[in-house]
Amino acid sequence: DMARYFMDFVQEESCGKCVPCRVGTNRILEILERICAGTGEMADLERLEQLSRQIMDTSLCGLGQTAANPVLSTLRHFRDEYIAHIRDKRCPAGVCPALVVAPCQNACPAGVDVPGFVSLTGEQRYSEALRLHRERNPFAVVCAAVCFHPCESRCRRASLDDPVAIRSVKRFMVEQEQRPALPEVRRDPANAAKKIAIIGAGPAGLSCAYFLARLGYAPRVLEAEQRPGGMLVQAIPAYRLPRAALERELKMIQRLGVTIQTGHRLGRDFSLADLKKEGYAAVYLAVGAPLGSQLQISGPTERIVDGITFLRDFNLGRRPQIGREILIIGGGNVAIDVARTMQRLGAQSVTVIYRRTREQMPAYAAEVAEAQREGVRFVFLAAPAEMLLEGDQLVGLRCQKMQLGAFDRSGRRRAEPMPGETFVLAGDQIVAAIGQQLRCNDFAKDTKLNLIANGWLQADPLTGQTAQPWLFAGGDALTGPASVVEAIAAGERAAVAMDAYLSGAPHAFWRQAHNCDTFFDPDADPLEYPRAAQRLLPLKQRRGNFKELELPLSKRAALREARRCLRCDYREPTTQQP
Ligand SMILES: Cc1cc2nc3c(=O)[nH]c(=O)nc-3n(C[C@H](O)[C@H](O)[C@H](O)COP(=O)(O)OP(=O)(O)OC[C@H]3O[C@@H](n4cnc5c(N)ncnc54)[C@H](O)[C@@H]3O)c2cc1C
Ligand code: SF4
Ligand code: SF4
Repeated sequence: DMARYFMDFVQEESCGKCVPCRVGTNRILEILERICAGTGEMADLERLEQLSRQIMDTSLCGLGQTAANPVLSTLRHFRDEYIAHIRDKRCPAGVCPALVVAPCQNACPAGVDVPGFVSLTGEQRYSEALRLHRERNPFAVVCAAVCFHPCESRCRRASLDDPVAIRSVKRFMVEQEQRPALPEVRRDPANAAKKIAIIGAGPAGLSCAYFLARLGYAPRVLEAEQRPGGMLVQAIPAYRLPRAALERELKMIQRLGVTIQTGHRLGRDFSLADLKKEGYAAVYLAVGAPLGSQLQISGPTERIVDGITFLRDFNLGRRPQIGREILIIGGGNVAIDVARTMQRLGAQSVTVIYRRTREQMPAYAAEVAEAQREGVRFVFLAAPAEMLLEGDQLVGLRCQKMQLGAFDRSGRRRAEPMPGETFVLAGDQIVAAIGQQLRCNDFAKDTKLNLIANGWLQADPLTGQTAQPWLFAGGDALTGPASVVEAIAAGERAAVAMDAYLSGAPHAFWRQAHNCDTFFDPDADPLEYPRAAQRLLPLKQRRGNFKELELPLSKRAALREARRCLRCDYREPTTQQP
């Protein structure tokens, strides 16, 4: 859109004397308009590059010679966005009217029809609402509990007062369901005969399996742990995601004909080459970011457990060691989940140590505030320096005081040590929640994968296809730690691409536009009441248990909230020309 805007400007300014500038920029503008309208084709990218270079080389004045710079630089730095417009008919920035039905829907990585399911819920047509949701995202129950809801950040209602509480309406919707109905499946014996393996039963792998099953494939999911679900069962605490919620949707996916084999680890129990030998025609690698980063400080660091390992051991029932005075290093959501889990397990004190300020914590502010209400202590502008021992016993941690310095490349102020300023925190257990990793070489020694420098898999971000055409990858394994809904979206994209690879053409029927027949009066004023408040479990009921924290909206509140939606998807009906 930016390149199009600039080309439009050049058109106005061009004196028209030299043909490359006058005609060439006009041709570029036509192509850009086509791409923004969703009717571009992949060959347009090459055309844009060629035309731009010709105009630069042959124009007579500075205007023509620099006119195509924005096109070339956006092609270089935002090529994915061009491809998203052409291949997926999606405008990631949400600015191309032809491609954006509603800002919320565009912001949802899975492309869920938000105004559709919200308005159906508002009319109490719950099973239709759920069906519509699961057209694009099988995990309605899971996302109702833990999605970071980027849809709400883009909700147009925020320009009037506050965004629609989309996730809360979703939560109410899923509460109305007894047993998930199966979505539309197009049976296809030819597809069913093709062997597909999916490695990793997290949201990316399971979503890929769900969409492949809807196309008539019968994928087999191979999971290292004894329970499927990935971080949904291994890491996210049950007080945020009750395990029964996941079970419902897992069973739905299995009822579609997906086989899930647990206790099967790639690199230990089988290799990618084995799968090839066994006749698998396509493989999806969705192994996530399963390792916690290690803390490098002075002392016996092998005693420091990382946050992911702690949460996984606890959530999978392996009874990890729990101390009395816990020191947690890190400022992200994992640190907060560890802290609140420890607090519920009865630790005497739980302290989170973060090297920057509270405002700079990557963790969600609401989660931090709740952790604090639950009794978690926070120490800001401090970094771990040395483990303190008495005999063999860990008794504390020497911390380095930090201060904020110059801005770094990420736009945040750098945390810098204050020379000579240290202090001691008492503690008998240290947990490091400072990042997640993937070690591809642990499991992919036999297959030439193109890996990027820091160990994440490298593949086409839109299709997940790797340097090996039969091997696809997605979810956290490709992007680094992200979110549940991004993993779900990646799984869907990979399913579409794998189907196209195996059958020669994409058949993603669920991507076609649906008409939602709910009532909407475009002449009525928006309803004026405020956003429904999220109710939480009272503080005194939280300690010592993992009861769900967020309480659902009442029926009255949910239906009222659904009606706050402005229906940005509404279009005036067009009259057919005879
Ligand atoms: C503590 C924590 C809290 C989070 N909270 C939220 C939240 O509230 N909301 C949100 O949106 N996101 C949250 N996330 C992020 C979210 O959980 C992940 O982005 C998402 O689960 C990634 O999905 P995935 O399928 O790519 O990977 P994963 O969920 O990690 O699944 C990968 C699967 O592959 C398996 N596997 C790994 N190696 C192998 C192997 N060699 N062979 C076979 N199987 C293997 C793993 O056991 C796992 O089951 C959280 C993450 C963490 C760690
Ligand atoms: S999945 Fe998440 S982003 Fe998408 S509509 Fe639901 S809450 Fe919003
Ligand atoms: S007002 Fe409704 S349709 Fe518009 S962005 Fe918000 S939820 Fe979506």
